Amino acid sequence: MQGKKILVTGGTGQVARPVAEALAAGNEVWCLGRFGDPAACKALQERGARTVTWDMASDDLKGLPRDFTHVLHSAVRRGDGRDFEETARVNAVGTARLMSHCSAAEAFLYVSSGVVYHRADRTHRYQVGDPLGGAAPWLPTYPVAKLTAEAVARGLAEALGLPTVIARLNIAYGPYGHGGVPMILFNEMRAGQPCAVPREGQNHCNLLHTDDVVRQVPLLWEAARSPAQVVNWGGDEEVGITDLLEYMSALTGVPVLLDRGDHSRETALFDHEERRALIGDCSIGWRSGIARTLADLFGEYRDRIDAYAAEHGTYTDEHGAGTPV
Ligand code: NDP
Repeated sequence: MQGKKILVTGGTGQVARPVAEALAAGNEVWCLGRFGDPAACKALQERGARTVTWDMASDDLKGLPRDFTHVLHSAVRRGDGRDFEETARVNAVGTARLMSHCSAAEAFLYVSSGVVYHRADRTHRYQVGDPLGGAAPWLPTYPVAKLTAEAVARGLAEALGLPTVIARLNIAYGPYGHGGVPMILFNEMRAGQPCAVPREGQNHCNLLHTDDVVRQVPLLWEAARSPAQVVNWGGDEEVGITDLLEYMSALTGVPVLLDRGDHSRETALFDHEERRALIGDCSIGWRSGIARTLADLFGEYRDRIDAYAAEHGTYTDEHGAGTPV
């Protein structure tokens, strides 16, 4: 993608930062945020992006140009688990301000989440038409944040005639920000903390490497339409979370302690048919993606990971078989 004028929110975050940095090479990229992380802000500027301080809780967009061709809205206020009203308001008004301001854009992408689904069965492959109303005991305000903003995005896509795509992301990971859920779990392992898993069986997800996120954002923009296009957005492979933990342990030698107390964070599997039809397949296999990410973020394990990868052909197994459920 070249020569476009692109507005990004959440540009300091794990998902949107690599996208903003990659797009800044050939486009005019503006990133909006509070920039509590000065290093991430500086890195964006060094890659050629402009940064503008904006708190979606309170700030309008006066003074910002209106001629953006593409918008990636990735910022989120997840809430603290109790502040439902404020979480709903902030995510709704932030989305409404952006869409109203950029109503002439060619495409608006709202990054939603699989947390919106009413999850009942660990092995169900969720489709866009499945029941909504997700509950997240680990952070009850989060599904409210995403459902509220989705509703605003749907409404304004039609009211403004703004081509929009709502992409419900599964679990993204990669060497940016907090690294994603797998790296959060690895940090628990390093700290000697037990990782919560179900009493029986395991949770599953579709891990998506940020290299695929970067490649797929322009493809998602091409899929934008009015009324809004809603699509599940995850990796091709089905990955068991317990398998993931054991794999990270094998790669690094860090032992994994499993807590089978049945208070694990639910994850979801997606049906990919519609996503494949819209934007095609993914390119990074989860085993090589996890190995690379661990080696990038935790350099002290690099030699061991490289040795494991050489023995098992991990880095060349770009699209290794997933774990069937
Ligand atoms: P992060 O937690 O890494 O980053 C959150 C971003 O939101 C930051 O860039 C932050 O910027 C911005 N933000 C938060 N509050 C405000 C505010 N009041 N005003 C302006 N900006 C704000 O998020 P991720 O990158 O992990 O997630 C990105 C999107 O993807 C989110 O919408 C999330 O719901 C969704 N998602 C992510 C998944 C994942 O695996 N990572 C899975 C499913 C969905 P700053 O602090 O500079 O203001």
